[in-house]
Amino acid sequence: AKEVPGSFHSFFHPLMKISYNRKSAIEKGLNGDLKENGFYYVLQPQIDGSSGQLVGAEVLSRWNHPEFGEISPLEFIQIAEESGEIVPLTSHLLAEIFTQIKEWEKGFGWNLRTAINMTPSLLSDPTFFDNFFELLEHFQISSHLLEIEITEQAELTYSPKTLENLLRCKSKGISIAIDDFGTGFSMISYLTHFPINKIKIDQSFVQKIGQNRKSEAVLTSLIHLAHSIECDLVAEGVETVEESLFLQENGCPIHQGYLYDKPLTPKAFEKKYLQDFIK
Ligand code: C2E
Ligand code: CA
Ligand code: CA
Ligand code: CA
Repeated sequence: AKEVPGSFHSFFHPLMKISYNRKSAIEKGLNGDLKENGFYYVLQPQIDGSSGQLVGAEVLSRWNHPEFGEISPLEFIQIAEESGEIVPLTSHLLAEIFTQIKEWEKGFGWNLRTAINMTPSLLSDPTFFDNFFELLEHFQISSHLLEIEITEQAELTYSPKTLENLLRCKSKGISIAIDDFGTGFSMISYLTHFPINKIKIDQSFVQKIGQNRKSEAVLTSLIHLAHSIECDLVAEGVETVEESLFLQENGCPIHQGYLYDKPLTPKAFEKKYLQDFIK
């Protein structure tokens, strides 16, 4: 198989023990000049499976570490979350993305939604969102072009600050999605406590399409749940035509996954999707 730049990283599981030396080297790297240290991002297209049309993209962080090579975001985001470096890391990422969005707006009339992952500690941070809105202002980005995906590196708990930040986002027209829905901490109660307008169905459900009846039933009831509370939907990890068809037939046409594309570097994304976008 041909390697797509930015799509490869070494295997990592959250329960794996990270050696002390590795962890402190990673922390140190997070602390410095991120770009200089090999930090970058890729974009994975979100596609309407029924028409094949591009509807948006998710931003995924990558790190080609000078000592360890490509490190999984599962590893460095967790370390960043624990050390507090997630705040400067995400602000750095936002500035990079906004620069790119602006360029694509000018060059190609780009007007689709870009989704950015945010952890619970960012949502409750006292200053991160002030900075976020300042960046929006500075780059003159229309906020309806953005989506926040709430990822759960730690449990998202209710706090007045989190609610306030999410309501501020909502009032600006920023879309708020809950990531990995149906797994881990991701709970139905979030849907009533927070202004969430989109559910991202976890890839573990998608993988079991055609293999496990019970899991298919859970998947279709998640889709019904989303419809009944008027939440938008996207399914992640769509790898086969069979999965795509099942999702389309059951009311979830928006997909992200290797069937369509791997995460691509901005240059590759532009070449493949935006040069036609202008027409
Ligand atoms: P996620 O947000 O659930 O992102 C989806 C993951 O599935 C990505 O892994 C993506 O590359 C992978 N993927 C996409 N399509 C397929 C497919 O068809 N099959 C399979 N098996 N996998 C697919 P990745 O890039 O390694 O990211 C892992 C996780 O790290 C993300 O999971 C997200 O929770 C976190 N992450 C990545 N970048 C960021 C970031 O900038 N900020 C935060 N807070 N978290 C991030
Ligand atoms: Ca995500
Ligand atoms: Ca996921
Ligand atoms: Ca995830």
